[in-house]
Amino acid sequence: MEGKQILTIAAVFVLGAVTSGWCQGPPIEILQTRSDAPAPGGSSTSGSSGGITDPVGAESSSTVDARVTATSPEDLVRRAKRLYRKYGPVIQKALDAATLPEIQIKVTYDPKAYPGVTDGNVVTLSYPWFCSHKDDGAIIHEFAHVLQGRMRYDDETSWLVEGLADCIRAAIEPSLELRSSGFHPEFQPGGAKLGYQTTAHFLTWLGKKIRPGGVKALTRALRSTSYTHDEFTKYYGKTLEVLVRGYEKSFGAKSVKA
Ligand SMILES: [Zn+2]
Repeated sequence: MEGKQILTIAAVFVLGAVTSGWCQGPPIEILQTRSDAPAPGGSSTSGSSGGITDPVGAESSSTVDARVTATSPEDLVRRAKRLYRKYGPVIQKALDAATLPEIQIKVTYDPKAYPGVTDGNVVTLSYPWFCSHKDDGAIIHEFAHVLQGRMRYDDETSWLVEGLADCIRAAIEPSLELRSSGFHPEFQPGGAKLGYQTTAHFLTWLGKKIRPGGVKALTRALRSTSYTHDEFTKYYGKTLEVLVRGYEKSFGAKSVKA
């Protein structure tokens, strides 16, 4: 996300806050609250993921709605905790995580902050964002990062980590109360390895056309320091490059919703 874009979006946040009367918190302050989510299995195996920041996805335009996620920072924390209690075990199972760790929810008032940032078991949510966006799916995406655990997150793997997190989001999104109308895993030429929704679309296609279960298998592999893209060959029987070419070919140049 370019700085200029962030500033533009931040301006939308501020405008939304002023016009709606929501988001009247202090300019910059951190509210820190311990989650009361249960932590079966004791301490977490999930370590620091290096601070995964999530820029605005498809819903880059402001979608102000009367049914907003957050009417106060405390409400946002409570809402996130409720979502974790409800969907944490679902995500744990989907990602084959050994434990369901206790998480810490922080809220930032910084209008320039990303909607969500996850560092280990600490999830920081942007109050300005969730004031003006129906976007429980973004919170689910961050919970997926928590339950992915410690995994490689660098130039080679970040697209895959984000795409896998958006697979989880896409699976849960339909059952969320505050769904983002702008969120759809979708085909984009050249987008299979761009991360987020376009990678989620690619991974979904692999599950339907080649072999199901790849989300869990790739997640397990990414938790290993020895991960390479050869994991695609091991699981799907073809190299990542061949799989991407087949995916692109199957859709041609047409944009198709998942
Ligand atoms: Zn992410």
